Amino acid sequence: MSHSIKQIQQGLASGEFSSEEITADYLQLIKQHNPELNCFISITDELATQQARAADASIAGGDARALTGVPLAHKDIFCTDGIKTSCGSRMLDNFIAPYNATIIEKINSAGAVMLGKTNMDEFAMGSSNENSFYGPVANPWNRERVPGGSSGGSAAAVAAGLTPAATGTDTGGSIRQPAALCGVTGIKPTYGRVSRYGMIAFGSSLDQGGAFARTAEDCAILLQQMAGFDQRDSTSIDQPVPNYSGDFERDLKGLRIGLPEEYFAEGLDADIARVIESAIDQYRKLGAEIIDVSLPNTRLSIPVYYVVALAECSSNLSRFDGVRFGHRCDNPKDLEDLYKRSRGEGFGEEVKRRIMLGTYALSAGYYDAYYLKAQQLRRLIKQDFEKAFEQVDVIAGPTTPEVAFKLGDKTNDPVSMYLQDIYTISLNLAGLPGMSIPAGFSQGLPVGLQLIGNYFDEARLLNVAHQFQLHSDFHLQKPELNS
Ligand code: GLN
Repeated sequence: MSHSIKQIQQGLASGEFSSEEITADYLQLIKQHNPELNCFISITDELATQQARAADASIAGGDARALTGVPLAHKDIFCTDGIKTSCGSRMLDNFIAPYNATIIEKINSAGAVMLGKTNMDEFAMGSSNENSFYGPVANPWNRERVPGGSSGGSAAAVAAGLTPAATGTDTGGSIRQPAALCGVTGIKPTYGRVSRYGMIAFGSSLDQGGAFARTAEDCAILLQQMAGFDQRDSTSIDQPVPNYSGDFERDLKGLRIGLPEEYFAEGLDADIARVIESAIDQYRKLGAEIIDVSLPNTRLSIPVYYVVALAECSSNLSRFDGVRFGHRCDNPKDLEDLYKRSRGEGFGEEVKRRIMLGTYALSAGYYDAYYLKAQQLRRLIKQDFEKAFEQVDVIAGPTTPEVAFKLGDKTNDPVSMYLQDIYTISLNLAGLPGMSIPAGFSQGLPVGLQLIGNYFDEARLLNVAHQFQLHSDFHLQKPELNS
């Protein structure tokens, strides 16, 4: 199906279909295609039907809220009360969350229907969804290709039309990169805009929740319900949430778009460069002024991230010890054996690699050389953006250096896998908002255009994305599903 949230809202309001009907249609599609695509870890059909019935009653009673009756899927990193929340890991395969993440609470109270929990790289570590305990997700455009990661299940589910929209998280690119590889629209807001409470932590100073949908319009609708201050998250920012759809009609005359020279340098696939250049031409036609900018520390972003994120994850993941919750080994000899075997069995290879590297970077004698140095470089990366934003309103470029690669192609080469995030990762280090929107195709696979905004300028990003979508149809194209 190719309904947008907006179309579902209209259909529900006009009585064209009920929430129960449309929810049943989506559940049916998920059951039909999930065996092949593996987008979902859990399908919550009973809950969805219950929520849809309640939504229909609210609509009949004239008290529909912002998302009443709209089916959605959530990345399995968000705690969902009474429902398995695995984070893609064997460690949490048996974990039933005892509470809702703040964004789940907010989306539920806006009346949405939850179809299920989507597949992801274990603890959100990955760029291909191949690190999931539940197996890889297939890219709906080509089943032999990866969907990107770590929110690969959400991106692929939206691309395949198994859900109109989905939540995701982005620590170094995990919303934008899979959005690009699957040909959907994704937004990662400013750090602190969306509560991290109940979102299982990877790199706490980088993690940010956001949304996937087919259109910028739908991303705005979903983000509107997710954003806002939360007392339970100490890094949540207490600043009013603007109307994200409020600026949609604003034209782009005089908009200053910066093109960072470093994003078009060596390493970028030539065909992707062509697609991005033609998207930029489109913006020129819409009245934008294109300005060259420089982000000279871009090349440092991957090494800096792989110190900071790994240091933070080594600390965050120490809570999974087989004692309080999560996987516990059988018949431990003593406490040390319990810790060792529970963690040894519960975590996958990539997670272990990162915990070891992070622990090393934080250890006495190495802290100054690695962690402290990385924090200093992180500041320089942020300053690059601050300088660029003195000249321009948004920055544009490719989301990824290549299109979706083949499953298995990079699993033995972590560094080449890490390089997939070369254009996305610096935004997380700086805390800036970014989007990826479909900009065309190369070898029959989607190409994403990344739009980077200044702090808390999500409304403008959404406006700039929407105006492009008014003049293109890449976001409306859908992969063929096997019948
Ligand atoms: N690919 C990056 C990593 O593996 C980013 C993941 C993310 O954004 N969660 O760390």
